[in-house]
Amino acid sequence: MNEKKSEPWSAEKFNRWYQERPVIPSRDYVKTLVPRMKSLGERSGFSLEKYGEVTYTTNVSVMTEKTEISDVTDKKITQVTHNLYHLLIGDFTQQKPCYIVIGGTHGYEKSGPLAALKFAEEEAAQYTERFNLIIYPCLSPGPYEKELRFTEGRIDINRDAFLEGSQSQEMKALAESVKELHTRLFEGDLNKKFAAAIDLHETPFMDIAIDKESAEAGGETFELDIFPRGLFLIAFDEDEAFANKIIQNVRDEGHHVVDDDTLYSSPNHDGVLLMSEMGAVTGRVRQLFKHFTTASFTTEYCDEGLTDETPDAERVEPQMAAIRGMLL
Ligand SMILES: [Zn+2]
Repeated sequence: MNEKKSEPWSAEKFNRWYQERPVIPSRDYVKTLVPRMKSLGERSGFSLEKYGEVTYTTNVSVMTEKTEISDVTDKKITQVTHNLYHLLIGDFTQQKPCYIVIGGTHGYEKSGPLAALKFAEEEAAQYTERFNLIIYPCLSPGPYEKELRFTEGRIDINRDAFLEGSQSQEMKALAESVKELHTRLFEGDLNKKFAAAIDLHETPFMDIAIDKESAEAGGETFELDIFPRGLFLIAFDEDEAFANKIIQNVRDEGHHVVDDDTLYSSPNHDGVLLMSEMGAVTGRVRQLFKHFTTASFTTEYCDEGLTDETPDAERVEPQMAAIRGMLL
C-alpha cells in the first residue's frame, strides 16, 4: 500500500489508549484466572509464587462492577494492581530436565493462558517423575482482561522482552523472574540451562483491525500476505529437529498445521518458521528465554475466524498438543 500516511498518534493518545478500553467480564483476571492459579498452588508438588505485580491506569467509567469507587479521582481514573504468578511443578531437587510453558504474552490471545492452566490442572502431575515444570499462565493480566494485544502506552511486550532495559513493567518483572529462577535452580551457572520453553500465541481475526490501527498510529504492521490457518511454530535454527517433533505431535493429535508456502512471508518448513529466515527481530519472549534454555519456541494458532466467541476447546487443544509434543 502506497497511500500517504496520516500523522502518527500523539503521546497523549498512546497514554489514553489502554485506559479507555473496558474490562471484559468473562476475562476478568482476578475472577477467572487467579482462582485457578491459587487452587493449583494448593496441590501437593505444586507451588504458586508471586514474581511481581503490574499496575494499570484505567478509566472506571468503562470498567465493570468491581472497582472501589472511593479511589476514584475527579477524572474517573483509577489504578488497578494485579499480581504476576508462576507455578513450579515437581520436586526441583534432582537433576531432572525443566520445561517452561508461557501464556498471555499478548493478552488478547486467550488460548495461551487457558492452555497453560488446563495443562497444569489436568496433565502436569503425570510428568513430574521425569521432569520439572514451570508455568507462567499469564504475562500480561491487564491486556488479557481487556482483550488487547498491547499493554499500557500501546507497547507490544513481545517486542520488549530484554534481559536489561525493557520499557514495560510486564517484561521488567519477567526478566527478573527468569534470572532469579535460573540463579535459584542452577546457581546462575549458564552452562546449565532449562531444557526448553514454549510461548503460546495466536493469530486471530482481530489482527486485521490491529494492523490497521498500528498503521494509523505509526507503528509496526504485520502485512500478512495470506491469513494462515492452523498451528505453526517459530524456532531458532538449531532447534529445528526439536520443532519438527512438536509439530509432528500436533499433527498426530489431529490438528491442522499451517500448510501455506509461506509463514508471515518467510518459507514454511512443514509448519516451522526458522528465525534466520524471518529477518532481524528483537525483544521476543522466546529470545529472552533462550538465554536460559537449550531450546525456545513460539506457537501461533491461526484462524481468520478466531474471535473471543470461539469455543475454548477449539483454540486450546492445538496448544495442548504442542506442549505435549515438547515433553515427548
Ligand atoms: Zn502473539
